[in-house]
Amino acid sequence: MKNIAVIGSGTMGNGIAHVFAQNGYNVSLIDISADALNKAVATISKNIDRQVAKGVLKEEDKTNTLKNITTYTEMDKGVKGCELVIEAATENPEVKFKLFRDLDAMCAEGVILASNTSSISLTKIGAQTKRSDKVIGMHFMNPVPVMKLVEVIRGYNTSDEVTRLVMDLSRKLGKIPVEVNDYPGFVANRILMPMINESIYALFEGVGGVNEIDTVMKLGMAHPMGPLQLADFIGLDVCLYILRVLHDGLGNPKYAPCPLLVNMVTAGDLGVKSGTGFYSYTPGNKDLILAPRFRK
Ligand code: NAD
Repeated sequence: MKNIAVIGSGTMGNGIAHVFAQNGYNVSLIDISADALNKAVATISKNIDRQVAKGVLKEEDKTNTLKNITTYTEMDKGVKGCELVIEAATENPEVKFKLFRDLDAMCAEGVILASNTSSISLTKIGAQTKRSDKVIGMHFMNPVPVMKLVEVIRGYNTSDEVTRLVMDLSRKLGKIPVEVNDYPGFVANRILMPMINESIYALFEGVGGVNEIDTVMKLGMAHPMGPLQLADFIGLDVCLYILRVLHDGLGNPKYAPCPLLVNMVTAGDLGVKSGTGFYSYTPGNKDLILAPRFRK
C-alpha cells in the first residue's frame, strides 16, 4: 500500500495524515471545509517543528512529510487511486453511514474502508456497503503522532486477510496494533468510560473532591492524568455520548451516566473545549484551576 486517503482533517484526521506522510505514504487529506484543511496543514507543520526540536525528526523530513500530503474538498477526486481510506469525520452515525455508502460507490472493489470511530459499530458501518469484509476500525489515539496504540476493530464480517493487512500496516507506521471485536465501546472505551463515570459518581456522592479523586488515581495508580482531568480533555459531551452507547448497547444499568455528568453537559460545561468542566481553562495557562462550582 502506498496511497492512502484520510477523510476529515480535524484533531484526529490531521494526526493520521501526519503519521502516514511521515512514513512515506502519499496521503490525500479530504474535508468538506477548506478552512479545516488549511488549519490541518498548519497544525501538522507546527507538530513536525516540535518533533524536529525534540530530535525525533530531521529538518529535511519536514519538507518530505508535507510534500506527501495533498488536500481536497471533493471526496471523489481525493480517493481516486487510493488503496485504503481512513474515515475520521465527525462522530455522528448518519454522517458516517452516508460517507461509507458514498465511498463504497466511488472506490474500486479491493479498496479497504477503515473508520477511526470511537464508539459507532463497525458492523453497522460495514452494513452500509457491499464490502463489509473490507470494512474495519482503525482507532488511533490522540495525539496520533505520539500515541503508540491502534485499536484494530473487526466488524462481524471483516475478513482475516483485511485484519492482517491493517495490523501489518499499523506496525509499519511504528504503532502497536491490538485486535479486538466489535462490541459497544470496543476495549478502550468499555474500560475507560466506566472508570471516568465512577470518578464522577465519587465526586457526586461527596466521597472526595476533584483534586482528591485525580490525585488518588495519578499517584496511586500511576495514571499520567486524573480521570476528571482526562474527561475534561476528551470532552464531557463525548464521554456522555459514549456512556449512552455502552448503556444502550449492553443493556446493563452499571453503564448509566452519572446525573452530574448529564447536568454539566446540559449546562454547557464540556471541559477544555468550552473553558469549564471539572477545572477551568484559560488559553495559554497550563495550571489546573478548579472550576468555580467545585471550589471548596
Ligand atoms: P473533529 O471535529 O476535530 O474533526 C472532524 C472533521 O470532519 C471536521 O474537520 C469536519 O469538517 C470533517 N467532516 C465532517 N463531515 C465530513 C464529511 N462528510 N466529509 C469530510 N469531512 C467531514 O473530530 P475528531 O476529534 O478529529 O474526531 C474524528 C473521529 O475520530 C471521530 O469518529 C471520533 O470519535 C474519533 N476519535 C476522536 C478522538 C479524540 O480524542 N478527538 C480519539 C479517538 C477517536
